[in-house]
Amino acid sequence: MSIAGNVGLKDLPRICPLISRRVQSSGDPTETRVVPVGPVRFGETRPVVIAGPCAVESREQTLAVARAVKAAGADMLRGGAFKPRTSPHDFQGLGVEGLRILREASKETGLPVVTEVMDPRLVETVAEYADMLQIGSRNMQNYPLLIEAGKSGKPVLLKRGMAASLCEWLGAAEYVAKEGNLEIVLCERGIKAYPSGEYSRNVLDLNVIPAVKEETFLPVIVDPSHATGVASMIEGASCAAIEYGSHGLIIEVACDPEGAGKPKCDAAQAISPRTLQNIVRFIDLREESHNLRKAHAI
Ligand code: PEP
Ligand code: MN
Repeated sequence: MSIAGNVGLKDLPRICPLISRRVQSSGDPTETRVVPVGPVRFGETRPVVIAGPCAVESREQTLAVARAVKAAGADMLRGGAFKPRTSPHDFQGLGVEGLRILREASKETGLPVVTEVMDPRLVETVAEYADMLQIGSRNMQNYPLLIEAGKSGKPVLLKRGMAASLCEWLGAAEYVAKEGNLEIVLCERGIKAYPSGEYSRNVLDLNVIPAVKEETFLPVIVDPSHATGVASMIEGASCAAIEYGSHGLIIEVACDPEGAGKPKCDAAQAISPRTLQNIVRFIDLREESHNLRKAHAI
């Protein structure tokens, strides 16, 4: 019996030839495409750390978090101006005003900014303010949005759909690539699988990192914030992801997550700048020890 629409890894060269390592073979099975976002380079040996608020709530909050994540050693700023919320009655983000605030925070700190775009009609507007466009988990298969993001020419951070297979995820990336835009970074952000919701928000699928690397040359990063939903899990999940070969992290931070700085959305997963600093230090020490080992091997 065959099932319509049932695809597996063997179908990837046909589904996504433009980003398939098997089709676009350079001869080096570990080669990664370097995706530059301003001075930041995804896919090189040092993992990239993106950090910032879940949502842009105000100018003061965003500037304060941006300064704090810069001081903690982050490479890029995140923050949602258009928020995909479960309830339409919840805070939806500040929209274009949020984009202006992000631009200001980026200018002041020198950190390039990534922000989510949910609507194909808004890609041009978001691209005016952002250095990188984020396609969220809920929109991974919004094909008109993927096509517009591809046409924008801006680097794209493509989150994995919360129930997406690797084939579906890479198929979505191919839509962006087909518009001539190969500046794509993939992002694992946790999947809905048993037992998500019991002790963590989602299940962090670390195994997908080496699987992605086997199938495509595009860099892949991890979002431990939405994967766990629990602030105390973020540091461990981040270090585990780096150990497993992630090219970077995207993390939600608040200045005082349990006090005055408690965020309007995803408060339970916001870490302090101090915890972010610990994660950056882990990356620094890891790099140092790799360099030392390399030096001594010669
Ligand atoms: C986000 O990063 O702001 C977000 C909403 O994440 P996801 O799309 O992975 O749920
Ligand atoms: Mn969030």
